[in-house]
Amino acid sequence: MAGLGRIYWQRTGLRGLAVLAAAWLAAGLLGTGGSLAVLAGEAASGRPGPDGPGRLLGPAAAIVLPGLLLGLAGAAALIQRSQDRLRRDPRRQFSREQLREGLDRAGGTCELEAAYRRRCARAAAHGIHFLPWSCGGSTTMENFVAACSRHRRLWKFGLPSPAVRRRLEERRRGYFPAGVPVAAGERNPVSGRAPAWLSG
Ligand SMILES: [Zn+2]
Repeated sequence: MAGLGRIYWQRTGLRGLAVLAAAWLAAGLLGTGGSLAVLAGEAASGRPGPDGPGRLLGPAAAIVLPGLLLGLAGAAALIQRSQDRLRRDPRRQFSREQLREGLDRAGGTCELEAAYRRRCARAAAHGIHFLPWSCGGSTTMENFVAACSRHRRLWKFGLPSPAVRRRLEERRRGYFPAGVPVAAGERNPVSGRAPAWLSG
């Protein structure tokens, strides 16, 4: 799937931006709180400081920019989520035939990674979406990965990175039957009446 790198880095970047903005905002709030405390102390003692309430202006300005950034990151995440929703495959469960075919081509063994990036050695009993269904991953053989119970539980958290996909495809060259494409991950097209600006 050509777009996985773009989606993955977009989301990872957005999360990083949100964390930075939140930390920045927290620091700004602390600064403002500190200035408020100083002002309150001056008011209580009846001795106003040199610039009085004016000293609140700096710290307050320090809240605006990270607050704006945080709001932007949140809005972008909301747009992403609504776009994912429009991409969701109407069918979530792999069919019995797909499961049989998928387990077969994997030789009955989990295709995901155990320690040291080696292939997991457990028996596979499940078919999971390589690109998660919730992110628009298709319920097709192109997006099917044979998984053990443990990996099935673990796989729900977020998008696989492009490196994980590359290694899976490399491993697959070793055990997939000849002629079966090793590519992993397929994304459903946007369905329904998506606004043009969402369907990019
Ligand atoms: Zn496994």
